[in-house]
Amino acid sequence: MSKIVLANEGVFPITKDQNGNQIKTTPATGMHTSGTIQGEGKLAGVPSLFIRLAGCNLRCMWSLPNGALCRCDTPYASFEAEQDLQLNPEEIFALVRNNISNLNHLVLTGGEPMLQHRHLAPLAHRLKEELKLHLSIETNGTLFFEDVAQHIDLFSISPKLSNSNPSDKKRAAYNLQPSGPLSYHAEKRRNIEVLQKFIDFCNATGKELQLKFVVGQPSDYKEIKEDFLANLHNLNPADIMLMPLGATREELKTTSNMVAEMAISNGWRFAPRLHIDLFGSKAGV
Ligand code: SF4
Repeated sequence: MSKIVLANEGVFPITKDQNGNQIKTTPATGMHTSGTIQGEGKLAGVPSLFIRLAGCNLRCMWSLPNGALCRCDTPYASFEAEQDLQLNPEEIFALVRNNISNLNHLVLTGGEPMLQHRHLAPLAHRLKEELKLHLSIETNGTLFFEDVAQHIDLFSISPKLSNSNPSDKKRAAYNLQPSGPLSYHAEKRRNIEVLQKFIDFCNATGKELQLKFVVGQPSDYKEIKEDFLANLHNLNPADIMLMPLGATREELKTTSNMVAEMAISNGWRFAPRLHIDLFGSKAGV
């Protein structure tokens, strides 16, 4: 049976294994219960379980307003995805079933989960049909596959701005060579055709989406308007969100006020990162 490649903690946070036995270690949340809260977007605060898929076709590296660098907040699912956990869909389904308890929401995240759409589609189908879960997918908006999309309730799309490009200077700071996604990130990160497919699909099916832009510079609003929104059609302005750049509380402090002002002045929604407030910057929460 084909396996799905998961990153780091895979299905999280969990307290029971595939056979329904209690796991001895406490989840990274520090709580003795399966599940956490969705920290971002329209469903912020909603109790949820997560499946994190490994691999990403982008390599985000940002500059904060103070000049410091900040890269992908899940490097173990993108930059360092070699430490993978491979499970077949039956094993993943069992982990979800044994840990879902009173949770109704499941989030498929990454990395970029659409990269594994062929194996993910039948799993998403079972999660939807047999467990009746509300499914969200967190995607960078560069790939659209209807085999997965048909089972999703909310598309949380986070298109990447030019501030995410892994420039020579940024790569040098992390001592990384320009190979693979590091070499084509700048070219692939903005895909208007794919974003429009998500919008058209949601408008045709009644499914929900949110366009969640990660903002780190005061000038980012111009790029959002001119490079993205001006080229997209039939997008509900209520679905546009700005999320402050930063993977730690300290980094978020450098961007949050500026992003809140940008959101207010443009009539867009501000998207906090509640999980970082609650649990800090760590995997598995
Ligand atoms: S698209 Fe998301 S997962 Fe991929 S490198 Fe960027 S922030 Fe990380």
